[in-house]
Amino acid sequence: MTRICILLAIPLSLAALGCKQRSPDVVVTTSIIADAAERIGGGHVKVSSLMGPGVDPHQYQPSAGDLSTLSSAKLVLYNGLHLEGKMTDVLERQPGGRVVAVTHRLDHGKLMSADIDGGAHDPHVWFDVRLWTVCVETIRDEMIARFPEHEPAFRENARVYLNELNALDAEVRQKALSLPPDRRTLVTSHDAFGYFGRAYGFEVFGLQGVSTGAESGTGDVKRLTQLIGERRVPAVFTETSVPPQGLKQVLDAVESKYRFRVRLVGDADALFSDALGEPGTPGGTYVGMVRHNIDVITAALRP
Ligand SMILES: [Zn+2]
Repeated sequence: MTRICILLAIPLSLAALGCKQRSPDVVVTTSIIADAAERIGGGHVKVSSLMGPGVDPHQYQPSAGDLSTLSSAKLVLYNGLHLEGKMTDVLERQPGGRVVAVTHRLDHGKLMSADIDGGAHDPHVWFDVRLWTVCVETIRDEMIARFPEHEPAFRENARVYLNELNALDAEVRQKALSLPPDRRTLVTSHDAFGYFGRAYGFEVFGLQGVSTGAESGTGDVKRLTQLIGERRVPAVFTETSVPPQGLKQVLDAVESKYRFRVRLVGDADALFSDALGEPGTPGGTYVGMVRHNIDVITAALRP
């Protein structure tokens, strides 16, 4: 019996060694989804993200290399709800049941309406931490379905991670409540923070629409200038994955029309919206990005 076990164990351990060399088991589109898959995978599966830190998913064009990575993966996870604007068709055309939108189980009644690249809902669901936990559960279940041999580890890793996310949700809510209600106006480059605003009590405004693919026009600049000027909003926020020029134009207009300077929060304090920061930095994980954002927002808007 022992001998049989050893004979069985040798090919298994060789297979495990080979694991390091082979192509990714799980391919995901954004760094935000990659973080959840890696936390659940815990090193048992190789996770690879097509988009790296700071990449704008609305504008991303898949390369020839991406297409072959997609076709060889055992499981492909993407956000869906038309977040991956130019890639959505490619993803939806992949054969077999191995391509899954992590938002597919969300109750449509909980989604916010938006007109985006052919879709009808706002795809930035990860900014409501509680809503994102439903997506994390979907990622866990899809990974278990594809790699059932790791089910106990995946379940345990997901349990620990979901507990962390529940604590994070409470932390964000508490920090948001520390701001007086009249200071909870969040102005950013594009409309990525709708779910954040709904969950944590902010009114949110973006210069561009829900997709960065929609150019901002003079009407958008005027509308935002008036809003900032009339409310005397003290600070507006750039995003790591969107160029800041548009917001600078708005702030110049506020200064000449309303005679006050608004702080443009950027550089190291820029908000993470659709992509994480570099690995190893505080914004390099989902928990770190959410915490960075709420800390920067509350510090800049506090009276
Ligand atoms: Zn976006």
